[in-house]
Amino acid sequence: MAPQREWFEKDYYKVLGVADGASAKEITKAYRKLARASHPDANQSDPKAEDRFKEISAAYDVLGDEARRKEYDEVRRLGPMAGGFGPGGFGAGGPGGPGAGGFSFDVGADDVGDLLGNLFGRGRGRGRGASGVAPQRGADLEAELTLDFEDAVRGMTTTLFLTSDAVCSTCSGSGAKPGTSPRPCRVCNGRGVVDDNQGLFSFSSPCTACQGRGVVIDDPCPTCRGSGVERRPREVKVRMPAGVADGRRIALKGRGAPGRNGGPPGDLYVTCHVTPHALFGRDGDNLTVRVPLTFAEATLGADVQVPTLEGAPVKLRIKPGTQSGAKHRVKGRGIATKKRTGDLIVSTDVVVPTKLSDAEREAVEQLARATTVSPRDHLEG
Ligand SMILES: [Zn+2]
Ligand SMILES: [Zn+2]
Repeated sequence: MAPQREWFEKDYYKVLGVADGASAKEITKAYRKLARASHPDANQSDPKAEDRFKEISAAYDVLGDEARRKEYDEVRRLGPMAGGFGPGGFGAGGPGGPGAGGFSFDVGADDVGDLLGNLFGRGRGRGRGASGVAPQRGADLEAELTLDFEDAVRGMTTTLFLTSDAVCSTCSGSGAKPGTSPRPCRVCNGRGVVDDNQGLFSFSSPCTACQGRGVVIDDPCPTCRGSGVERRPREVKVRMPAGVADGRRIALKGRGAPGRNGGPPGDLYVTCHVTPHALFGRDGDNLTVRVPLTFAEATLGADVQVPTLEGAPVKLRIKPGTQSGAKHRVKGRGIATKKRTGDLIVSTDVVVPTKLSDAEREAVEQLARATTVSPRDHLEG
C-alpha cells in the first residue's frame, strides 16, 4: 500500500483517541470500541455515523497494520512539505498524476463499503491475520405473521420459519472445500491491491486476480460455492407483546441473521396482520363493540348485557333518552398491555323494527298521535 494523500491531512491517532506511541493492542482496543459505537447499522437515525465509521476504519486500516503504521509515521514525520508539496500540491480528486516529484496516491482502492461487504473483510494479508478480518453484523430479516384478533390482544409466543443467509455449515464460512483453505493471491501477495511504483509514491488499484480479496479459493466449498454463506431454514421463537395492532412492524433485536467474524446478529422485523373479530374492534388499547337497543330501551332506559372479549358479559345501564351512536365506557375491559389497560367502548344503535305485530303497531300509532313536538321544528322557517 502506497502512502496516501490523506496521510498528511488526517491525524489517525487523534481519530482513534490514542497516543502517538500507543501499543498495537491499545489501538485495536480503541478501534473496536469506536467501531461498535459508530457502526452505521446501529446509528440509522444519525446520518453522520457512516462518515464517522469510515474515518475510524480508515484510521485503523493504517494504524492497525505494523508496516503501514511505520510508513504513516515516517511520512508524517517528514511533513507535508516533504518532497516539495503541500495539500494543494495534489490534483484535486484525480489520481494526482506525476506532479511535483512524481508523487501520486491511492486510486480508490480503499473503500470501506467493500470492507464491510466482503466476505474476507478485504484481508489483504497485511499481517493482520484472522483477527484483522472486520467483524460483520448479520443482516436484518423481515417476516410476516398473521394473528387472530384474540392472540393479538393477549400476546402470544409463536415460531416463525425463515430462510436466511447463515455462515456456511460445511466450510464454516471460509468458502473453501473442507480440508483445503483459501491461499494468498500470488498476483498481489495477498494484499488485494497492486501497485504501480513511481518513485516514493505509487498508484494502487484493486487486484483483478482476486477481486481485491487477497485470497484465492482453488477448491470452492460444494455447499456455498465459495461464498461462505448458505441459505438455511431457521426456526425463530418470538414473543409477540399483548396488544399488537394490524400492520404494526415489530423489531426483535438480535433475532436476525447471525453476524460473521464475531460480529453481532442483525435484527428481525415482524410485520403483523391481525384478522378482524366478528364482534369487537379496536381503537388503540380500547376495544369497541356495538350494542343494538330497541326504541323503548333507548327512550325509557334499560340495563343491557354487553359481551366482553375476556370473561363474562357485563351489565350496562342505558339512561333514558339514549341516542343512536352514543358511546359508553366500560372501564378496564379493553386491552391489557404492559403500560395500561384499555376500556371497552360500547356504541349503542337504536334499531328501528321492520316488522310489527298488531299490538306493536297499535302502540306506535298511539305514540304518533300523542307526539306533539316534531324533531324537525328547527328546519322550518
Ligand atoms: Zn461453504
Ligand atoms: Zn490478488
